[in-house]
Amino acid sequence: MPVIRRRKSIPVTIGNVRVGGDAPVVVQSMTNTDTADVESTVQQIAALARAGSEMVRITVNTDDAARAVPYIVDGIRAKGWNTPIIGDFHYNGHLLLSKYPATAEALDKYRINPGNCSIGRKDDDNFRTMVEVAVKHQKPVRIGVNWGSLDQALLTKMMDENSRLPEPLDARDVMMEAMVVSALDNAATAERYGLRRDQIILSAKVSGVRDLIDVYTELAGRCDYALHLGLTEAGMGMKGIVASTAGLSPLLLAGIGDTIRTSLTPTPGGDRSEEVRCSQQILQSLSIRSFMPQVTSCPGCGRTTSTYFQELAERIQHYLVESMPQWKQIYPGVEELKLAVMGCVVNGPGESKHANIGISLPGTFEEPKAPVYVDGHLFTTLKGDHIVEEFQVILNEYVKRRYAKQQTGV
Ligand code: SF4
Repeated sequence: MPVIRRRKSIPVTIGNVRVGGDAPVVVQSMTNTDTADVESTVQQIAALARAGSEMVRITVNTDDAARAVPYIVDGIRAKGWNTPIIGDFHYNGHLLLSKYPATAEALDKYRINPGNCSIGRKDDDNFRTMVEVAVKHQKPVRIGVNWGSLDQALLTKMMDENSRLPEPLDARDVMMEAMVVSALDNAATAERYGLRRDQIILSAKVSGVRDLIDVYTELAGRCDYALHLGLTEAGMGMKGIVASTAGLSPLLLAGIGDTIRTSLTPTPGGDRSEEVRCSQQILQSLSIRSFMPQVTSCPGCGRTTSTYFQELAERIQHYLVESMPQWKQIYPGVEELKLAVMGCVVNGPGESKHANIGISLPGTFEEPKAPVYVDGHLFTTLKGDHIVEEFQVILNEYVKRRYAKQQTGV
């Protein structure tokens, strides 16, 4: 696999997690519970952490939310999770961080949106207050520029300057440049107010895929701050997943991005952890990090006239998801496992030979038997009504044999 040359960024320590430098690309997520509701927020953070979120952000938007933060952090630590908790501040962050020092101390990082912390003011006192609180508590900060809340004074000034040029740029290009300038200027200001460079992460989020690629490519070339990557307001379901993948992949392959979030809109009552699994799958599909055994399965075609093959692929996938929390503890490296579940013998044996374990189900008019390959060799041929169960036994035995921790001692 060709090596990805990571952009050199300054590493930032957030609680027990390192972002940037040569650290692996970190997966993070955000809750959607009312932060003032301690119990619900703790439950959701735990669920996100269990799914593999390595940092979790919570909104801190009201007095009640700010007061709840230390209890939330205590609650999640009491459950045994060290996951760094990040506070997301807008508009009134300067007030909340000043009024609730226990909250400022309990959080592992603050996210500041410079576009909405000094609205209607000529000075940057609110931004300065937040940075000074961060300096006092020695907390890192993400300066998160978002095109939906970009500093309007800066944008207007740059649009005016552009209109006076002999050959003005496209308004879209000015907007992208304003995002980059806003992020860099605010980072420089934060440094003037006392933050160290290794306490600053930058983001410049937009909701268009091409815009995202352009703005981060530009930002990455003009600084060495660690970068948080994500397509903002990615959307629901397939649209959100595909757009996020399309936007993040070219950047990650170019070595840009130190931590990622996939901002999926969940369905009502849907599983918030989906965004964590999506981020993991993007990184794993690009061979950047491994989180889960991967199942290669064919799409099926006219040779697979029953749903049996789809059901098998789905059951194996569920079995892996269910088994992983325990497997991760006792079988180090199991996330590298590759399985193949194929619909017939046309590509089945070939694909199976490229996997650690592969099975080809009988297609239409084929003999009712399913050859199983292990490490490239025909291991057995399954028949009858219990192919799934028997395949799971083979899988379990393989995982145990290959990944069980080596015992040390006499
Ligand atoms: S492996 Fe067989 S069932 Fe699957 S798509 Fe190819 S021909 Fe169709």
